[in-house]
Amino acid sequence: MLTYTRDHIQMLLDQPRGMGMVVSCYANTSVVEGFESHWLQPLKAEASKIRQHLAEDPRALEEFERDLVAIRNALGSQAARQARGMAVFSAAARGFFLAVPSDSPFEDRLVVDEEPYVVPLLEAYIRERGYLVVVADTHRARVYASDAGGSRLIDELEEAVPSKTRAAGERWGKQQATIDRHRKDHILHFHKELAQRLDQAWDEAAYQGIVLLGEREVLEHFRGLLVDRLSRRVVHEAPFAWTEAQAEIDATVRGVIETARASGDKRVLDELSRRLHEACAVAAGPQEVIEALRNGQVSELILGPDPGAIASRCTNCDSLFAFERDTCPFCSAPCRRGNLWQQILDLALGHGVWVNLVRGSPELERHSGVAALLARNEAQWA
Ligand SMILES: [Zn+2]
Repeated sequence: MLTYTRDHIQMLLDQPRGMGMVVSCYANTSVVEGFESHWLQPLKAEASKIRQHLAEDPRALEEFERDLVAIRNALGSQAARQARGMAVFSAAARGFFLAVPSDSPFEDRLVVDEEPYVVPLLEAYIRERGYLVVVADTHRARVYASDAGGSRLIDELEEAVPSKTRAAGERWGKQQATIDRHRKDHILHFHKELAQRLDQAWDEAAYQGIVLLGEREVLEHFRGLLVDRLSRRVVHEAPFAWTEAQAEIDATVRGVIETARASGDKRVLDELSRRLHEACAVAAGPQEVIEALRNGQVSELILGPDPGAIASRCTNCDSLFAFERDTCPFCSAPCRRGNLWQQILDLALGHGVWVNLVRGSPELERHSGVAALLARNEAQWA
């Protein structure tokens, strides 16, 4: 389960700029070689590169050394030894410090900039959200919050549904129809209740998808009752005989999560190809995507690995450009530079847009690694 929240990330994204440097550090704390942590050598090497870069500016250099001490202390802490990865942000000059332990290792990196470099933490946050897993039949259901580490029961419900009985005697036909209808009503009521509870559970934590386990017919019926925003998030359905045995559920869910992760990338990339081909409801390339995000048109963002590209933001009118520029073409005010991926992710989060992180897609590469699926139900004269 995630050890940090959206609030931590927002706090980092909201750090004011123009107040001197922020040192961002990512470390893999899971591997120890001999008596030394794995992160020590790579970070030492990065630190000396940064020292060379700051050699002309003794005050910046001094500030950097202070940040580095704070970061090394955090990486050597008990919390870091228990975590597999650590993200540490330090800006000694403004009294800002944040250490975030993570369940998964980060690639070792040290970044000095005017703003915290949040992209790897955001990516981990998006990738490591768990799944809502529903095990259901006609009258019983259990809802789990699941991730690669296991499944935790968060809700269960049961309803007395009349069993499939056979009417006897002369009035067989009519009576049987009544019994069947009665039973169907109960199942419908039960599945509606379950759909409602799932709707609540979805909002209580950050999940990346829904997995449905049960008999095929039951799942089909139930899925039809889900509100649209949830039914679009069903990433996997699989036949599953009712059980409450935790070990069996854990094992199944682990396998299903692997499959769901792989098929999730494919689903969204297929959809992207289709829309690019039709030239319909799609934005491709950084600047188009920025405009679409700002206009509230995006339903899903598709983002490849961070190329480290630079964006510029106008300090006056807040226009955002997907490239380097010194002054704003609209109001002539100076622009400030920042990481392009971070700016796009910040916009997406702010607009509550669904983010898909995908690896290695030639189609996406043709558009500089970023595209967006647009909502189709726009008003014609918006
Ligand atoms: Zn401007």
